[in-house]
Amino acid sequence: MNTNFNFSTVPNVVSEAGSAKKLGSILAQQFPLVRHALIVTDNGFLATGLLEAPIASMEAAGFTVHTFTEVIADPPEHIVLQAAETARRHGIEIVVGFGGGSSMDVAKLIAVLSKGNQALSTMYGIGNVKQERLPLVQIPTTAGTGSEVTPISIVTTGETTKMGVVSPKLYADLAILDAELTTGLPPKITAATGIDAMVHAIEAYTTRHKKNPLSDMLAREALRLLSANLVRACENGSDIEARQSMLLGAMLAGQAFSNAPVAAVHALAYPIGGVFHVPHGLSNALVLPHVLRFNASHAAQHYAEIAEIVIPGCSGTSEAKTDMLISALEGLARKVGIATRLSEVGITAADLDRLADDAMLQTRLLVNNPREMTREHAHAIYAAAL
Ligand SMILES: [Zn+2]
Repeated sequence: MNTNFNFSTVPNVVSEAGSAKKLGSILAQQFPLVRHALIVTDNGFLATGLLEAPIASMEAAGFTVHTFTEVIADPPEHIVLQAAETARRHGIEIVVGFGGGSSMDVAKLIAVLSKGNQALSTMYGIGNVKQERLPLVQIPTTAGTGSEVTPISIVTTGETTKMGVVSPKLYADLAILDAELTTGLPPKITAATGIDAMVHAIEAYTTRHKKNPLSDMLAREALRLLSANLVRACENGSDIEARQSMLLGAMLAGQAFSNAPVAAVHALAYPIGGVFHVPHGLSNALVLPHVLRFNASHAAQHYAEIAEIVIPGCSGTSEAKTDMLISALEGLARKVGIATRLSEVGITAADLDRLADDAMLQTRLLVNNPREMTREHAHAIYAAAL
């Protein structure tokens, strides 16, 4: 076991269904000196009406609340800069992200950009944020990305190119998990985001670098919660217990993979999202079983340990358990009714060269994969998923 490691995460977590309704008192207690707040979200979440109670509670606690609701999926640079400008103009003192990964990623950068003069263009890469940030609170509205506890923000910088800011400065001060915010998610989004969270845990558990006892514990508990509750949350969206367990599982997986990074499933999923605008969770789900099959010869022991969690009571050799795990994950995708083939999201054989080329650019992720992956391998995996 690797006992030499670093581990970081957010310092405060509130996990309680209904807690967003008490947001004002939670924030007033933890941040007694700030009063001008910016809520960062997207118009889709705004339209659910679920922001009204948190905003009312903040105002009752003496906060002035501004909102920036223009976040879109795969947020482009100009949206981030526009949001930071809004924050500066209103003299914002605390940033609260409400949303899926995109809104939370934008909230991280606003908190940094509106505090000092460092340009966004100089922050890309690892450890390049050189200034302090405003207080930052993250409240996920999907159970998937784990972005509320990761130090990463992904921004779309060109037509399809994305760049990441990775810095310990992006860890929020507080993450709040409230299942009531996720009850309106349609089954297919619940399914795809939930499988994304499972991929975070699986890839953290099998990563070639930085795997450690804490990330392993988190990944295992994440997989236990996610695999036991995903179908329940899909079949009955208002099952608060299942929803809260999914949020908790997604957060634990986020804490795991921000310390033991993800690998080839994500490397092969990113081009699918970038070129075909397939949502992140679904992109991962589409390639997941095929990447695991490719990795099986190099990760069978770890996959067998995961199988024992995902399929309680399963038995046999490591190879047999690995096969059972892959079948169970394929069965899960079928059961929750999401697409299982690349052809279902508009990808054809003619696209595979480009996808394989783009996947090879994800060297930051590929180095973590338990088995070395060449362009030919990536191409074959996409072909198998077609
Ligand atoms: Zn992911």
